[in-house]
Amino acid sequence: MNILLLGPPGAGKGTQGERLADRLGLRKIATGDVLRAAVREGTEQGRNAKAYMDRGELVPDEVILGIMKEALAEPECARGVILDGVVRTVPQAEGLQRVLAELGRKLDVVLLFDVEEDELVSRLSSRTICDSCQTPYSGLPPGETCEKCGGTLVRRKDDEPNAVRTRMRAYRDQTAPVVEWYRQRAEGSGTNGARLVPVKATGPVDEITERVLRDLGR
Ligand code: AMP
Repeated sequence: MNILLLGPPGAGKGTQGERLADRLGLRKIATGDVLRAAVREGTEQGRNAKAYMDRGELVPDEVILGIMKEALAEPECARGVILDGVVRTVPQAEGLQRVLAELGRKLDVVLLFDVEEDELVSRLSSRTICDSCQTPYSGLPPGETCEKCGGTLVRRKDDEPNAVRTRMRAYRDQTAPVVEWYRQRAEGSGTNGARLVPVKATGPVDEITERVLRDLGR
């Protein structure tokens, strides 16, 4: 099963993506994680992406399409994948469809994460992530230790207020039209498209995971 997580920054795609990948035994691909690793390693891709990411802007579509292509071709992805934040523009949605078709696969489900903007801003301003395994935490300050791997929690540069505003704008202007793109091609529209599943992404994290699994029939 190939599942795409779509929704604004701070909606919980990373947290839920991790849990769904565990429960469904699928590989998770998060373009944000791939790019942050490239920045840490100082590769050419990382050096090129860093300025966009620090400002909260989207990195160019060609970069994302390259990451998608490489990641999806890996044998561990053949059973299916959870794609977290991988599609944020209409050309990326078209590109993903092409890449999957070349591999003889298709997107089965699009999970549409829904959270009020005020709640998103408050979540992002209290978020830290592990500098090693990238696990996100809410309410644990920078400098604390990651429960999962013992790494150090840090604040993401793009969780600062200016970058958050830019990311929200990028979501409204560039990613919200992607929801409409999938809606027009959804299952039942005669195009063999993916099933759209809305996710009310507020409340206890466990409950959200269980609700999503139920909606997926698992
Ligand atoms: P995330 O960890 O998903 O919030 O992504 C962090 C940053 O990485 C974003 O603000 C963008 O700068 C960049 N990024 C991640 N995924 C994409 C994508 N699919 N398209 C464009 N930029 C992306």
